[in-house]
Amino acid sequence: MAKLTFAGGIHPYDGKDMSKDKPIKTVFPKGDLVYPLSQHIGAPAVPIVKKGDRVLTGQKIAEASGFVSAPVYATVSGTVKAIEPRRVVNGDNVMSIVLENDEKYEEVAYSAANSLEELSKEEIIERVKQAGIVGMGGAGFPTYIKLSPKEPEKIDYVIANCAECEPYLTSDYRRMMEEPEKIVEGLKVILSLFDNARAILAIEDNKPDCIERLKKLTKNEKRISVKALKTKYPQGAERQMIYAVTGRSINSSMLPADAGCIVDNVDTVVAVYHAVMLGMPLMHRIVTITGDAIADPRNFLVRIGTNYRELVEEAGGFKKKPAKIISGGPMMGFALFDLDVPTTKTASALLCMSQDEVSQMEPSACINCGKCVEVCPGRIVPKMLSYYAEHYNEEAFLKHQGMECCECGCCSYVCPARRPLTQTIKSMRKIQLAKRSGKTNGQKKKQEV
Ligand code: SF4
Ligand code: SF4
Repeated sequence: MAKLTFAGGIHPYDGKDMSKDKPIKTVFPKGDLVYPLSQHIGAPAVPIVKKGDRVLTGQKIAEASGFVSAPVYATVSGTVKAIEPRRVVNGDNVMSIVLENDEKYEEVAYSAANSLEELSKEEIIERVKQAGIVGMGGAGFPTYIKLSPKEPEKIDYVIANCAECEPYLTSDYRRMMEEPEKIVEGLKVILSLFDNARAILAIEDNKPDCIERLKKLTKNEKRISVKALKTKYPQGAERQMIYAVTGRSINSSMLPADAGCIVDNVDTVVAVYHAVMLGMPLMHRIVTITGDAIADPRNFLVRIGTNYRELVEEAGGFKKKPAKIISGGPMMGFALFDLDVPTTKTASALLCMSQDEVSQMEPSACINCGKCVEVCPGRIVPKMLSYYAEHYNEEAFLKHQGMECCECGCCSYVCPARRPLTQTIKSMRKIQLAKRSGKTNGQKKKQEV
């Protein structure tokens, strides 16, 4: 039988062996915790604490400031040291709450639910909203909005995105191996919002142990099944995921709900379980610290706000001088120039490489080989779009479907002329998205890989 997949894509070296077989280690941060007020798509949160206040783990410290926004919670107990701009992974300075950690980890009391059945749909969505959950696969779109489509009865599929197609990342893998029950329970919560839907755990076939484990766990669940997808990057991109699982297509101006789908990343599904059933806000995530420059690559359960430098120390520090450090995976992550930045709700990994192969490559003229077109999952023509972007030809860029790019990086990866195709297209998309969001009050979605 043909494997579930999409057109285009690539098979880069995956580097997952470095960290995949080591159990998740919990980190107890020692230094200050930093909480950027903007860790999501939409309006920044607004502080509800002031300098000098003592706060507890699990206490809300910043409130959502609009429809597309999300609150922020303290992940340790301590004292508010400052509210000031701090550098984040993309190099921007973002207004942040800085907490001096007292290392006591005193917590607020959480209000767990007795059972899912006792909660109404509105109560479930309110719990997700109040917990500050956003898409943890990278997009950072507030999850409560995703779970509130206009016509919930038209949702046919709830897809748990378990692809983890980015090279080197293994946090979803570890979650599936160590806490599969929480994923299934989270899916049941989401399914309870959509009466006509069934849930699918969509897993790449390079994780047969996860497929087996989740199949066993869901064998008596009538509304939940497991599907194995062909291993190919970017299988976890939202559009490619929906197409592979359901055969339905969406474009950049549509939401997954327009194709009858809700797609959530594994960590997001678990956060929904914590919020709805245990009453806990979003405070933790699993982060992969890896790369050949790291002494002991592995996954960590991290309190959001923890400094990346502490995580590198937890992973044994550097065994080689890093030439390139990336927040996220090698295909879609941000190059970091400073480790003194906080982990956020969307921080999936830190990749530390002893060689920076990309910077050693000089771009040359396009030789019209067509490889970029072959691999492009957006079915667009990267070499032309890059040309339009370089020359700031907005009209031609839009006419030739530049917005259908999901910024996966496949075109740059295969280009023998080493042209910075993704980077130029991404810059133009950013400008166009900013223009669109000005018109639509910031409600457009990004792709999630
Ligand atoms: S043009 Fe965009 S979608 Fe197509 S391969 Fe390049 S980065 Fe990926
Ligand atoms: S892969 Fe590079 S060299 Fe080949 S057609 Fe595309 S831009 Fe030109």
